[in-house]
Amino acid sequence: MPLQVIGCEVVPQLLARLMAEARVVAPHRRTGADQWAYAEVRDPCEVELEYISTVLPAKKYAFPPVEQLVRYELAERPLMEAVVESEPLVIFGAHPCDIHGLWALDQAFCDVNVDPNYTAHRSGMRIVGVDCVPDEHCFCGSMGTATPAEGFDLFLTVVEGGYLVEIGTEAGAAMLDGLPTQEASAAALAQAKERLARRIQQTTRVSAECHSLPLLLSGLADSEQWGEHATKCYSCGTCNLVCPTCFCFNVIDRMALTLDRGTKEREWDGCMLEEFSKVATGENFREEREDRLRHRFYRKYSYLFTKYGRPYCCGCGRCVRQCLVHIDPVEVLNDLIAEAEGRRS
Ligand code: SF4
Ligand code: SF4
Ligand code: SF4
Repeated sequence: MPLQVIGCEVVPQLLARLMAEARVVAPHRRTGADQWAYAEVRDPCEVELEYISTVLPAKKYAFPPVEQLVRYELAERPLMEAVVESEPLVIFGAHPCDIHGLWALDQAFCDVNVDPNYTAHRSGMRIVGVDCVPDEHCFCGSMGTATPAEGFDLFLTVVEGGYLVEIGTEAGAAMLDGLPTQEASAAALAQAKERLARRIQQTTRVSAECHSLPLLLSGLADSEQWGEHATKCYSCGTCNLVCPTCFCFNVIDRMALTLDRGTKEREWDGCMLEEFSKVATGENFREEREDRLRHRFYRKYSYLFTKYGRPYCCGCGRCVRQCLVHIDPVEVLNDLIAEAEGRRS
């Protein structure tokens, strides 16, 4: 189906249709704060599609912050059952960086040992993406994630009077059935292209091409930049928790006081936390803040990038927006790139 255009007034109709079939979540402005959060849509007319990145990414629906994995009872005949839950869910208004973030989690959770909980959440999920306006922290242009090639059912780009609609799947095409659409004109296509080019230009802020980062970082493990940037870090782990591509978790046993039943739950964990690398014998493999910062950067821009072929950072800027001391991946990368260039000359 060729690209379509819908008027702004069609968006509430589309939402109402989706709400009749599934729970629909979309970005909502947080009361009293200049922040946005995904929450359930109650009124299709209240959804605003021009927003700054939500505090938590859409990953919270595919990989919840806390989730039961197993339930057990220690009766005469002990019972142990896996808890795998899924519901039809539409994420409405995901930015390209969030769509890339879900791609990154798909690789991590489904590559070798397929995670049943994650796949159950993802199989019930539909994505309606939307184009965005960057703020000063966005750098998707540098990460190659400013536009999604896949991973959406519909993708909307603002054009005069409405939205250009790209259809990514058959389910996406079905969402438009019976709604007033028209084939995209050359003018609408040109507007969308121009908008994307402007956004890529605004968000290209890392001073080297992203595919050069694994090689570049391989010679910088001993750089003093790690210590200089880490010196102000509180090891709070916020940057991990808000990151769309971080997927580490801990599994906790929760036993009832009666000691006859309990659950195993997983909850988000993060490599910037001091305890993260502590092992049973008491050693901590990354005891220093600079070791943890370096590890985080190597994961995102080297190890997982090399393994899966795309950076494990979508350039969303959430980590720096939420970091109390503004440790900014763009600044860290640019300092490292300058050092690598200095070493070569
Ligand atoms: S959010 Fe900032 S202060 Fe907290 S661990 Fe991350 S870099 Fe350190
Ligand atoms: S490292 Fe920061 S900018 Fe990159 S994906 Fe994670 S939160 Fe976004
Ligand atoms: S990083 Fe790019 S895709 Fe994500 S919100 Fe900013 S401009 Fe949009």
